[in-house]
Amino acid sequence: MPLTFDNRFVSELPGDSESSSRRRQVLGACWSAVQPTPVAAPRLLAHSREVARAIGLTLEDVAAPWFSQVFGGNALLPGMQPYAACYGGHQFGNWAGQLGDGRAITLGELVTASGERHELQLKGAGPTPYSRTADGRAVLRSSLREFLCSEAMHHLGVPTTRALSLVGTGDPVVRDMFYNGHAKEEPGAIVCRVAPSFIRFGNFEILAARDDLALLAQLVDFTIARDFPQLTGDFLDRQTLRAAWFADVCARTARMIVQWMRVGFVHGVMNTDNMSILGLTIDYGPYGWLDNFDPTWTPNTTDASGRRYRFGQQPAVANWNLTRLAEALLPLFPDDSAVQAGLSRFQAVYAAEYDAMNRAKFGLLGQHEGDDDLMRDGYALLYAAELDYTRFFRALGNIGASLSAGRDTIAGTAMVFTSTDEHLDALLGDVFYDAEKRAAQGEALLKWLRRWHARVSAQDDTATARRARMHAVNPKYVPRNYLAQAAIDSAETGDVTPLHTLLDVLRTPYDEQPTFETFAGRRPEWARNRAGCSMLSCSS
Ligand code: AMP
Ligand code: MG
Repeated sequence: MPLTFDNRFVSELPGDSESSSRRRQVLGACWSAVQPTPVAAPRLLAHSREVARAIGLTLEDVAAPWFSQVFGGNALLPGMQPYAACYGGHQFGNWAGQLGDGRAITLGELVTASGERHELQLKGAGPTPYSRTADGRAVLRSSLREFLCSEAMHHLGVPTTRALSLVGTGDPVVRDMFYNGHAKEEPGAIVCRVAPSFIRFGNFEILAARDDLALLAQLVDFTIARDFPQLTGDFLDRQTLRAAWFADVCARTARMIVQWMRVGFVHGVMNTDNMSILGLTIDYGPYGWLDNFDPTWTPNTTDASGRRYRFGQQPAVANWNLTRLAEALLPLFPDDSAVQAGLSRFQAVYAAEYDAMNRAKFGLLGQHEGDDDLMRDGYALLYAAELDYTRFFRALGNIGASLSAGRDTIAGTAMVFTSTDEHLDALLGDVFYDAEKRAAQGEALLKWLRRWHARVSAQDDTATARRARMHAVNPKYVPRNYLAQAAIDSAETGDVTPLHTLLDVLRTPYDEQPTFETFAGRRPEWARNRAGCSMLSCSS
């Protein structure tokens, strides 16, 4: 079936007058026309069948030779109009000027029969005017991580861009993984990512920084019309509509961060150019997943000194980023009341949804005095005892109907315990990373578990209902860094079966999958300090 493209971004917004990919400042335009640079031997390594189906492609389409040619950057389909977007951004707290799609090239905006919009964007498809000193390419390890994680995030219920395909290019790419003088050749790959819109905070910031207010207003109104059509009917005057739009961006961003906190995701590079206007997780680089609960953790070695983008800091950084967006939009409003109202909305939505999310994680119904202390003390113990974040909450959901000193019903069987260790093993299983911390915190942990159990036992609930509720928000499977690294190690030797298996497991992350129990294991010791497992850089 032919695909339909309407390409509104390029047909409604001004483009660059120059058409080469010579690196340059692009003024008075939102995009530059650019063709993907062909690669030697495109080979499909993986695809998402859900995304393929959503955009109207069949299994035969995906298997056809044209598919890897198009999504490897060697051919275009009728109706595609490739471009790279112009944007700026604040990187690590500083204004960085023009950045833009240095290696991302949108192929076109596809519209399905039911009217859904899907922008198809290649990442790693060659240089653009925004490539600065870099090559426009991406290595297999980083492309595989983006492909895998964005699909996993979707299945976990976290707002995200999606990934259609992972295509090996057959061309080597030279990277110095830790910027320490050890550059080497790595296999290249291209992800085709998919989202209704790839507009970022930085698309607005660059226009404000250049004082191009007419184009800034045009981009805002375009974004509202194309990406927020649900808002347009409600407000007749433009000021109110723009204010409502900014507040909606703030609310969406708050909801996205709440979901990151729920599943233990650390983005790693929350620069304003990596913030989607739709509140989607975007630009998977040196991201990571909490193994042991540690709010100070960041996977990004490039950020190791300041830890600006550590897990626990993400809500504050989102707020900071929204404040930068607010500053960029300020010239469009008569005073700052509209943007202030939007920023307040971020605070309100975040506070309410973060609280609801935590209550759900802990299985609490209703609001009781002492709940906040109970949850805060729980997190403090998770940190102090160095417990596995994902496994702990899953284990908590499994705790049965009765729990008293030395006695418990585990999986329906009454059991008696003679020691704290035995009891902890039975209740929590393999959640500890450090024997000394376990010994030091064991008693406190049991005490807290009894306190929690007393609280949930007092609510109108059954252990079975509580488990179902808790398991629906506390995933069993997340794409832990070491799992992704194992899939990368195999893919680099030509075997993509482990990637396919992992992707399959991550399709139903809340289900028990007894055959794949090992994928729910806590981080093995070999992975504690291994590159790719706990340390990642921006080199990709
Ligand atoms: P990131 O840190 O990946 O969000 O990238 C920041 C900026 O650098 C964006 O403008 C990217 O397009 C650009 N960039 C990153 N890697 C490359 C590359 N290999 N080639 C060209 N541009 C790149
Ligand atoms: Mg980026």
